[in-house]
Amino acid sequence: MEPRTIIEPFRIKSVEAVRFTTREERAAALRAAGYNLFRLRAEDVLIDLLTDSGTGAMSAAQWGAVMQGDESYAGSRSFYRFEAVVKELTGLRHVIPTHQGRAAERILFHCALKAGDIVPNNNHFDTTRANIETEDAEARDLVIPEGRVPALLHPFKGNVDLGALERLLSTEGPRVPLVMVTITNNSGGGQPVSLENLRGVRALCDRYRKPLFLDACRFAENAWFIHTREAGMGDRSPRDIAREVFALCDGCTMSAKKDGMANIGGFLALNDDALAERARNLLILTEGFPTYGGLAGYDLEAVARGLEEVTDPHYLRYRARSIEYVVDKLVAADVPVLRPAGGHAIYLDARGLWPHIPPLEYPGVALADALYLEAGVRSVEIGSLMFGMRPDGVEVPAAMELVRLAIPRRVYTQSHMDYVAEAVLSVAKGKPPRRGYRITEAPKVLRHFTARLEPLEG
Ligand SMILES: *Cc1c(COP(=O)(O)O)cnc(C)c1O
Repeated sequence: MEPRTIIEPFRIKSVEAVRFTTREERAAALRAAGYNLFRLRAEDVLIDLLTDSGTGAMSAAQWGAVMQGDESYAGSRSFYRFEAVVKELTGLRHVIPTHQGRAAERILFHCALKAGDIVPNNNHFDTTRANIETEDAEARDLVIPEGRVPALLHPFKGNVDLGALERLLSTEGPRVPLVMVTITNNSGGGQPVSLENLRGVRALCDRYRKPLFLDACRFAENAWFIHTREAGMGDRSPRDIAREVFALCDGCTMSAKKDGMANIGGFLALNDDALAERARNLLILTEGFPTYGGLAGYDLEAVARGLEEVTDPHYLRYRARSIEYVVDKLVAADVPVLRPAGGHAIYLDARGLWPHIPPLEYPGVALADALYLEAGVRSVEIGSLMFGMRPDGVEVPAAMELVRLAIPRRVYTQSHMDYVAEAVLSVAKGKPPRRGYRITEAPKVLRHFTARLEPLEG
């Protein structure tokens, strides 16, 4: 038979119970959390779609590898195994482990940037932007115009606007120390970047002699979209495609909590010998010795194994389908969502659903909170709370007001996804709140993690 049902490509060996709560309990939890879902106790959440970062289920093979961890301070066997897997995949010369992706970013940017520099990207992720701005440099988003319109269909909405990149490099080139591309484009909806576009970025980097760095957190999901959506790529394996993508870059930052299929970990990999030496020296100062970088030997083992498992086509087909499955249900019911389905999350368009709530009343927060109250589902706002504060302290609305439902890897089943779709439909078809929220306290940098808010409606 030609199966039409795409099944979970695993069976379950160990389970963890979820905790059910009443609406009253959730209302109290929300109040206590200052209406910021980051501040909830995870115990009060039924289905946790806050992030796909570090929340995946490890395979039996990964747990087996964990027991093989070599905890030697220097030169551990686990490091060499990790290094060999990263080199095989990326072809990059220097592999520097870090405790997670943002540590790789901080080390790279501290070593490579100076005040006044500009770093272009399709869309900078929140920690990437913050780590650039901390160096008094500018994080500039150059995604194609299609990538800013939630409902518009385009196979590679994460693509870089090559014309805009060329204008930047020709007019302000001396201020650009490196070019970045995020695969897939998390802040822009988990949308992929095509191989053709990456080759175009590479050509511009060659012409203007700039190093190209990938923010490679979801390289395998990106490779899957190239495999399924890009002309001539259907016969190539996701791993083969991923290796070509890495071959185009001079370095990458990676959070192994995403496509590393691990609960913690990351790395910086690069070819530039002098930059690698500076990075290792900074690593020793703040993370640890270069053969562990803040990780246990067993973490390095889990990541090494995860990087091998993640490019399995059966896994990637199931992964992409579980997102698309929910998006299809929501589209059929006319709920405004970011389309097409991205690689790791469903993005609801809060501005499209509740246009009467102004951006600086945070419609995404209103929607995410409503979804939690309704069904115990935790999501995250990706809008003006996350991105609306400029470094100079002026608040400006974000490009989009989204609510992200990120799907942890290999954790939830199809019935969980049915429940999530039902919850979103119930909120979207119900009575909308009249007004949004007001911030009562927030730090200056990365405020969305810890801010407290209150509803403006009585
Ligand atoms: C998660 C993520 C990061 C940061 O990685 P952490 O492991 O959370 O520090 C950077 N860029 C993108 C695109 C991400 O999704």
